[in-house]
Amino acid sequence: MSTATQEEKISSLNPDIPVQPDVRYDYDLIVIGSGPSGEKAAVQAAKLHKQVAVVGKSPSLGGACIHTATLSSKTLRDNVLFISAMEHRSFKGVHSSIKKRQLGVAELLRYNTTVVQHQADVIRHKFDRNDIDIFYGLASFLDPHRIAIEGRDGSRRTCSTANVILSVGTRPARPDAIPFDNAQVFDTDTILQMDHIPGTMIVIGAGVVGCEYASIFASLGVKVTLLDSRPDVLDFLDHEIKQTLLYRMRTSGIIFRLGEEVESVTITSPNRVDAHCLSGKIVAAQSVLHAIGRVGNTDQLGLDALGLEANNRGLLSVNDDFQTALPHVYAVGDVVGFPALAATAIPRPFGRSPRLPPGHRQPR
Ligand SMILES: Cc1cc2nc3c(=O)[nH]c(=O)nc-3n(C[C@H](O)[C@H](O)[C@H](O)COP(=O)(O)OP(=O)(O)OC[C@H]3O[C@@H](n4cnc5c(N)ncnc54)[C@H](O)[C@@H]3O)c2cc1C
Repeated sequence: MSTATQEEKISSLNPDIPVQPDVRYDYDLIVIGSGPSGEKAAVQAAKLHKQVAVVGKSPSLGGACIHTATLSSKTLRDNVLFISAMEHRSFKGVHSSIKKRQLGVAELLRYNTTVVQHQADVIRHKFDRNDIDIFYGLASFLDPHRIAIEGRDGSRRTCSTANVILSVGTRPARPDAIPFDNAQVFDTDTILQMDHIPGTMIVIGAGVVGCEYASIFASLGVKVTLLDSRPDVLDFLDHEIKQTLLYRMRTSGIIFRLGEEVESVTITSPNRVDAHCLSGKIVAAQSVLHAIGRVGNTDQLGLDALGLEANNRGLLSVNDDFQTALPHVYAVGDVVGFPALAATAIPRPFGRSPRLPPGHRQPR
């Protein structure tokens, strides 16, 4: 009967990574980014007795997932559904009046702060329980095994590590032709700070996120025009589901302008924004939400120090074990591209063969 421990079995799966017992690093693993993929990777490695640290750029844990993407958009959607249900289902003796013009997205997300804080606390407790160190700051490579962490207060520290997981996620793409001012023209992060509900809105991009926000604003009574260069949208959906969804979106007042590529946007007055289409058409509204594309957060990582290069969308290539061209540097979650969902980011790291060399964590 084999007497190998689980850890030995795991590390024996890794013929590629030379384990150098004489080299001592501060950590077996540093995870950069604390979104769902980084969180899961860090906890899983700690459970395999690795000495782990997580570095997060923002002052709160949880990544874009809880702060600007999944959780915030779902909270907003839920609050808007609640409001429209109140409007549509009145009972004798119960009268509700909603002053939509006094509402802003930020106002609708007031409750979100509590939810976000709770989720961030859950993650911090998980890290504490698993003896994972947390550093708040921007991480960048000094060389393949040393990482500099710059705190918001200007502090700087350096940590060495045997392995690195890049779980740095993505941010909204901001093309030059779109004058984002966060007052009339928004991306999918800044829309959460919108301080009013406009009468009319153009949503550029009818992907999942564009359709979701178009539906949310239409439910608030905003006249939404959804523009997309493709003649057909959401084509990955089951045909019947897609037809039902698009029918419901149309009946909620959303106007689809498909096959229209937006070349540029101009702010013509404090109450008017024009979207100029390649076809020559101009679509006007009070505000614009640009919901096309995201780019990987790889530009500040100092990848040059590794000889690694991201593609033109800032995304990294990995093999089936999520290793980059450097075997000790892994990348997981949105930064490796499709399918870019929180749900898929979570179980992926080390899903099949955890390949980290043996850890040196001592019980604290
Ligand atoms: C509007 C919207 C709605 C969505 N809705 C859903 C949904 O309903 N269901 C679903 O499954 N998915 C949804 N998603 C996708 C989901 O949010 C992402 O798949 C998920 O957040 C990816 O997680 P991640 O761990 O890869 O990165 P992220 O959550 O993006 O976290 C990465 C973290 O790394 C930090 N970071 C970056 N660079 C550095 C650095 N150099 N040093 C330190 N820290 C750094 C970032 O600041 C960020 O905090 C949605 C996305 C959007 C935009």
